[in-house]
Order: sequence, then C-alpha cells, then structure tokens
Amino acid sequence: MSEVRFGPGGVPDWLEPMVRFCSRCGGQLAFGPIAGEERDRLACPSCGFVFYVNPRLVVTTLPITDQGQVMLIRRGIDPGRGLWAQPGGFLEIDETVRDAAIRETQEETGLRVEPGAIVGLYSRVQAAVVIVAFEARIVGGTPEVTRESLETRPFAPDAIPWPEIAFETSVRALRDWVARVRPDVPLPDPSTIRRPSGA
Ligand SMILES: [Zn+2]
Repeated sequence: MSEVRFGPGGVPDWLEPMVRFCSRCGGQLAFGPIAGEERDRLACPSCGFVFYVNPRLVVTTLPITDQGQVMLIRRGIDPGRGLWAQPGGFLEIDETVRDAAIRETQEETGLRVEPGAIVGLYSRVQAAVVIVAFEARIVGGTPEVTRESLETRPFAPDAIPWPEIAFETSVRALRDWVARVRPDVPLPDPSTIRRPSGA
C-alpha cells in the first residue's frame, strides 16, 4: 500500500481543499486539540463546531452467473479507466446497503442482482473509503454498456485478469471470492500487481 500523506488539516492532501470552512457559520476551520477529544480534530474557532471527517462507504457486488463466473466491468471513467473492476459506488444517505448494491449494479451493468453473503470489507485509507463487496446472484437484465462502463463480461474464477484489475481493494475482494469458490486456483500476490498510482 502506498503511503498516505496527511496534510495540515489532519486529512489526506486531496481532501484538504474540501474541508476548509465551517458548514455552520462559514468560519475558517483549524486543526488541533479539542477539549474532551482523544485526538486532534478540525473545528471552528468561531462557533465551536467540530467537523468530524470519516471514511465513506462504497458498496460493490460480485455479480455471479449461473455458470459460476463473475461479471466485471471495464471502467469507462477514471480512476482506472480501461481496467476491470466490480460494479459499485457510494452509499446514498437515504438507502440501505442492500438497496445500494442492487442500484449500483443495475446502473453500471444493466444486470439485476440479489445480494447474498458479504465477501469482505476493505479499507482504503488513501481514498478515505471503506468498500464492502457482496456476492450477488444475477436474477435478470442483460449486460450492457453504460455511462460508466466500456464493456461488461464474465470471468471464470481461474481466468481473472489480475494485472488489469483497477483497484487494490478489487484484487482483495476477487482473491477472497476465488479462495472461497475455487480453493484450488492459485492466487496472485497483490503486491506484485502493477496498477495506476493512487488506484
Ligand atoms: Zn463555525
């Protein structure tokens, strides 16, 4: 895992421009000790508002065909454009994790799925996200090219295109899935797989 750079706001460098001002009074936030808190935090010196910055949840699925293959999409957008990943996206404030899994899969692949067991839960500190991956049975729809995908196609557990997987967390989820459904299939060492920086 590449090292995460935390800036003067106590958050990753890329996040710092988005957390400069108090959302309650508009004052400039400052990072430092807060009475009663165990760690330094962003807070507003004007009104006392403490701005908690926490990772967001990304909900993904591994859609499984009747033949036991996993449907992956070739990403049409950055990060990871042109590489393969499972469908998924940010959990919205008004939906359950299960509903998000169904919605994101439909949006990105055209497939209707029934989420089943959780394959794994993966932190990616650099991007301030936590990724949940569900195994999901395909119950309808047809694979289609969408706004976010160039291609959707099935891969057997022993034919995962490891060097072309977009994200480290996708590699981890796919490894965990293959290990469960086909323990005989050799798995790659994630650290030996090259992928675009930051992904
Ligand atoms: Zn304020």
